[in-house]
Amino acid sequence: MIKIFIDQGHNPRNPNSGAEGNGLQEGDLTYRIGIKLRDLLNSNPEFSSVTSRNTPDEILGTSNATSLAARANAANSWGADYFVSLHCNAASDPAVKGSEGYVYSLSSSALPLAQSMLQGLYNITGTVSRGVFARPTLYVLRKTAMPAALLELGFITNPEEAAAMNNDPASYATGLYNGITSFFT
Ligand SMILES: [Zn+2]
Repeated sequence: MIKIFIDQGHNPRNPNSGAEGNGLQEGDLTYRIGIKLRDLLNSNPEFSSVTSRNTPDEILGTSNATSLAARANAANSWGADYFVSLHCNAASDPAVKGSEGYVYSLSSSALPLAQSMLQGLYNITGTVSRGVFARPTLYVLRKTAMPAALLELGFITNPEEAAAMNNDPASYATGLYNGITSFFT
């Protein structure tokens, strides 16, 4: 049984509300995609999955710092084998689009996992990966005790990607799920 902790990145409002664009909140989009991804994983006997936020209104922490700490601590105390944090990117130019991944180190097994998840996402949604990069300063990558990947699923500031993430969370979850299963087989 492979234990996968899904962190939906942000809260629906402050503290740690994340990016907004096209009238949408990052924490709402990642919440719904994360719940669907968790349910797909739990329908497969090879996996066990939990999310950091379990209701749409749940707020983790009382500050940005404690919100991030709550997510890493939950994964560590659950004993996750892998940690995946879901995010939406933002840019001042609304034309910028695509997915992106971050890992603590390029030698971590989270690198091929992240690459496989972004490939799976591309296969279903057509979102092109901009690459997976090392970002050891990111709190949830630094403070998690297991291989950890942070994925930007698309740009909330891009009208098409924002609408796709909002209207079709099931396709995002399915793409990510396919990437996880192909990484482990
Ligand atoms: Zn974010």
